[in-house]
Order: sequence, then C-alpha cells, then structure tokens
Amino acid sequence: MTTLSVHAPHDRRELGRVELDTAASIDAKVRAATLAMREWAALGPMERGDRLLAIERDTRDQLDDLATALSLEQGKTVKEARIELERYLGPFRQYSGLATVTGGLSLDLGNGVRAMVDQRPVGVVAAIVPWNFPTSLFGTKLAPALAAGCGLLIKPAETTPLITQRLVDIARAHLPEGLLDVVVGGAEIGQALVAHDLVGKVAFTGSTAVGREVAALAGRHLKSASLELGGSDPFVLLEDADLRAAVRALMGTRYYNAGQVCVAPKRLVVRQEVADETIALLEERLARIVPGPGTEPGSTMGPLHTERTRAALEEQLEDAAARGATIVGGGRPHDEATRSGWFVSPSLIIDPPADARVRSEETFGPALTILRVPDDATAIAVANETPYGLGASVWSRAQERAFAVARQIDAGYTWVNTLGRVYDELPFGGVKASGLGREHGREALEAFLAPRSYVYAVDAR
Ligand code: NAD
Repeated sequence: MTTLSVHAPHDRRELGRVELDTAASIDAKVRAATLAMREWAALGPMERGDRLLAIERDTRDQLDDLATALSLEQGKTVKEARIELERYLGPFRQYSGLATVTGGLSLDLGNGVRAMVDQRPVGVVAAIVPWNFPTSLFGTKLAPALAAGCGLLIKPAETTPLITQRLVDIARAHLPEGLLDVVVGGAEIGQALVAHDLVGKVAFTGSTAVGREVAALAGRHLKSASLELGGSDPFVLLEDADLRAAVRALMGTRYYNAGQVCVAPKRLVVRQEVADETIALLEERLARIVPGPGTEPGSTMGPLHTERTRAALEEQLEDAAARGATIVGGGRPHDEATRSGWFVSPSLIIDPPADARVRSEETFGPALTILRVPDDATAIAVANETPYGLGASVWSRAQERAFAVARQIDAGYTWVNTLGRVYDELPFGGVKASGLGREHGREALEAFLAPRSYVYAVDAR
C-alpha cells in the first residue's frame, strides 16, 4: 500500500497519511458509482433535494471543526476557511430546490407524431480540483451533479485530501453506497480517472496548462469537459472613481487567501492622473497585513500553500525587479511564528515593463502588478494583453463610461464599482485561456444533464 503524507503549510508538520489510488481502485470506484446512480435516480427530485439539505445541515453542524482542519491543511486563516466552507454549502441549498424543477419537454410535431425530451444525468462525473479552495470548488461540482442524478468521484490536489475525505464522509451518510468517493493521487491518477470508459463528464478546475491536457484527453475519449482555469484579472481604475472604495475592494480581493485566487484582480490598470495617490493608499493598507499561521487569531494572511508556489512567485518578482519594476514589500517575514512555513510578505510590483513575466503570466500569491495608462483606450489594451479572460473590474463614477470600458474587456465576469465576489446565482467561467463551460447558476445543473429525444406516434383512436 502506497501512502501520501500531508503537511501543514505554516510549519510543515505532518497532519496525516492517506492511501494512494491505483488504476484498479479507480475502476472499482467508478463501477460502484455507476451502479449507485440507478438507486439515486430512482429516488426522484424531491427526495434528492431533501438529501442535499441533509448534507448541508450535517456539514454545518461541524463547521467550526472543519474550518480549523481546512486552515491547517490549506494554510488560509480560520476566518477565510469559514467563508470557504459557507461557499461549499451554498450550492446544496441552491440545487436542492432547482432539482425539483428540472424537467424535460413534451411537444406536438404534427401529423400524428409527438415528441418527449428527457433530461438524463450525464453519467459518473470525474471532478478534479486544485488546492486553493479545496472545499468550495468541490461543492460547486458536487451539489449540481447530485441534483442532476449523477454519481461523482472527487480527485483533490495531493496536498488537500484530508478535508476532502471529511466532507465526503459526511455526505455519504445520505447517499447510496458508492455514489460518491474520493480518488487520491497526482497527474497519472487524474488521467486514469478522466480516461475511464464509465466516466461521463469531466469537471476540472486548475491551471491552464493542465486544463489543456485534460481537455485533450477527454476529447480523445469523447466525453464533455468543463474547464475552470487560470486568470490574471485587470482592475481598471479610471481617474473619476471613488479611489478609497476602489482600493478597499482591491485589497479585499487581491490579498485574500494569500493571493491564491483564480478570479482576483492581479493587475491594477490605473489612469496616470491618480496613480501616485492610489499607490499611497495601497501602501498604507499593505502595511496592515499580518502574515501568520492561519489558526492564530492575530493573523490576517496565511502562508503560501507549498514551497513550489512560493518559489514561483519569488521568481516572478525577481524577474520584474531585474527588468526595472519597483517592488514595495515582498520578501519573507522573519519571526518565530513564520520561520518554518511557506510565508511571503505582500507586495506591489510597480511599473513592470512590457516584457516582464507578470505582464503575461498569472501571479498566484500576494503581489499586485500596477500599470499606469494615459487614456481609456490604452487601459482596455493593457487589460486585454494577457492570454486570460476570467474576471475584470472597472471603477468610474460615470457608469456609462465604466460600462463602455467593461464591454471591451475579455472576461467571463465583470464587476463595476463593486467588490469582486462570485455569486452562486450567476454563471461563472472564463473566456480565452481561462476556460470553457460554466459553473454556478442554472448552467451548472444543465451541464450535468444530457437531453434524450423520443418521438412517438399518437394513438389515432
Ligand atoms: P493544477 O492544474 O496543477 O492541478 C489541479 C488539479 O489537477 C490537481 O488535483 C492535480 O493533481 C490535477 N492534475 C495535475 N495534472 C493532471 C493531469 N495531467 N491530468 C489530470 N489531472 C491532473 O493546478 P494548481 O496549480 O495546483 O492550482 C492553481 C491553478 O488553478 C491556478 O492557475 C488557478 O488560477 C486555477 N484555478 C482556477 C479556478 C477557476 O474557477 N477558474 C479556481 C481555482 C483555481
């Protein structure tokens, strides 16, 4: 039996060990889920909705304990862990109701022929998620998949299997045996899961590079895949904006989760008239961030998740500095509480030139790139200069002007003069290299359903 050791990012202590899956164990789990789907589908939508609510209730009963466990394993603060777990739970409430109104269609085709369109569950779902939001990204797939009648196998990142297993254990008490299970392992295990013949759909969240591989593999096996990938969202700040409100919103999203967020403003594109004033406001707020262990009440920002993610960010900062950018903050905090974890101090990367890596790559940590622009047309061009198109923010007191800019930025989600939070009610997903398909909203439920048409002769008697 091969096992995987899981460590706390804030001090590297071992939190537990889990058994790695194999091709044979994946096969057994996919078969069990396929079989269990018959029982699940036979329950009907009202009963399935009730089960989703029961999962929500039982999980909520353990929220405090789960938040501490998530904080220890992922690194985020307990406050952030609670917010994430609320986001895990939201879709259970949302889709419990929607499950009961997801019908098919019946229509008269004329000449004595009628048709019925049945909405069938798409099959067992292979859900693959990264480590930055191991629970909420799981919930946005699990709840609609269950509501649609599907079974699901969740493959978490190799560094966050423990919290995933706990959530699965709670949910399984309300589900037919085998309908839901965890698959543990890295790239090879993920590939084996995607390629399994009985998997009907792949729901992937992760990096663009891996997303391309997953899409290619799913394509070869002719199964549909939704892909939620990387982002480098622009935050466009025009000179007539409410600067203080904009800076509050920017700080609340860029440094949240230690900057390890797919949909977060990573590049401030600011009109040069207000750039210096904005930078001064940002510096003031940057100084208030307290890096520390997520379970310590005084910490406002946890460590980065792994040594590798910290090294990747540090390399991007070094590259920007070497090419002439001004770096404010950054470096590693040096105190007893942060000495042995993957901590990094928050930073601003001011005026990096066009060839700096941060102008085209995603920065996955607490660093904000700042780019001054002379006019709105340049703001739009700079906003669109990366391969990504996940989210965007635009701030201006003139709403028409803000929308005129917003409409020209490539993004699946845009906030105008408001905090960049994601709502369960709305479809979420990227354009360009940020992905394909949508999660949340009615769209997520529909993604786990496959229509099947029946045509039949009407009895003429
Ligand atoms: P990653 O792509 O390296 O890993 C994501 C998951 O895929 C993990 O479970 C990993 O084990 C698995 N995996 C790796 N190689 C695989 C393969 N060849 N086949 C199948 N599965 C494989 O992602 P990461 O770097 O750990 O996570 C951060 C990335 O995720 C960032 O780019 C971030 O923007 C993105 N992200 C996107 C969203 C979104 O909703 N758009 C949300 C969160 C994170």
